[in-house]
Amino acid sequence: MIVRRRRGILRTSKNVDIIVCLKRVPDTGARVEIEGTGVREEGLDWVLNPYDEFGVEEALKIKAAHGGKVTVITAGAPGGEDVLRKALAMGVDEAVYIKDAGLKGADDHGVSRVLAKAISRTPFDLILCGKQSTDAQAGYVGGALAGLLGIPLVSAIRELKISGKSFEAGREVEGGVETVEATLPAVLTAEKGLNEPRYPALAGIMRAKKQEIKYLDLPSLGINPEELENPLKRVSLTYPSIERKGKVLNADSGSIKEFAGFIKSII
Ligand SMILES: Cc1cc2nc3c(=O)[nH]c(=O)nc-3n(C[C@H](O)[C@H](O)[C@H](O)COP(=O)(O)OP(=O)(O)OC[C@H]3O[C@@H](n4cnc5c(N)ncnc54)[C@H](O)[C@@H]3O)c2cc1C
Repeated sequence: MIVRRRRGILRTSKNVDIIVCLKRVPDTGARVEIEGTGVREEGLDWVLNPYDEFGVEEALKIKAAHGGKVTVITAGAPGGEDVLRKALAMGVDEAVYIKDAGLKGADDHGVSRVLAKAISRTPFDLILCGKQSTDAQAGYVGGALAGLLGIPLVSAIRELKISGKSFEAGREVEGGVETVEATLPAVLTAEKGLNEPRYPALAGIMRAKKQEIKYLDLPSLGINPEELENPLKRVSLTYPSIERKGKVLNADSGSIKEFAGFIKSII
């Protein structure tokens, strides 16, 4: 058996310990109301960021093939328990919630720093994030984690093959698929099409209700909330402008010709 030593922990080369980052986002069908420079959170339906579901599914597939432990982590928003329990119901082993009011108003880098601090305390081989969140859509956190932890990033993957300490990942690029190779530990961000996320079974949902969630806060991570001061300030948040252009046609032969021409132009 081949063994390697990392951060003082002796482990077999086969196991792949994975951390999956999860974000709670408004359901894409939900009516989002702007309040000041933010979003009114009360009354919204929240879901697990769909790109993170691909991350959880991939982690579970890797665990089934190679062994290891899958831990999910979320930071910030109230109600994070729901997304953690969804992942527990899908079959992950452990759930960590960094819950601290000091995270309110934190920008992308602040959130990434807090996640990196918590993750750096846990032995891991692989970090999986979504390619982006479906609400703020910065596509920032995965890359920032790789930078802060000093490990490689492969973004927006649609294929993954792990073999021992190495992996091969396929990314869709303009007109083709780019395949890259690197060694673990690394951060990978999941693109749609990586897999088909499973639906949690009823037994999994029942089990997840009782599973323990580990809570962390900024002091327990040795972070002073004042250190999270944003380099970015959100100046405004507005609805997209909808331009409605209408044209009234009369029921004469000229208008019918014009209408037929319009239909032709759009099909
Ligand atoms: C000035 C400013 C103020 C803000 N104030 C608030 C606020 O008060 N409340 C608020 O909710 N948001 C706030 N935000 C947004 C918040 O900073 C971002 O949502 C967050 O940093 C992640 O960025 P993103 O959603 O674009 O994720 P992306 O970078 O697009 O996400 C990619 C992936 O990273 C992971 N990820 C992202 N966020 C988290 C998370 N929190 N925990 C675990 N994994 C995660 C997921 O895997 C996700 O799929 C603010 C942003 C700015 C710039």
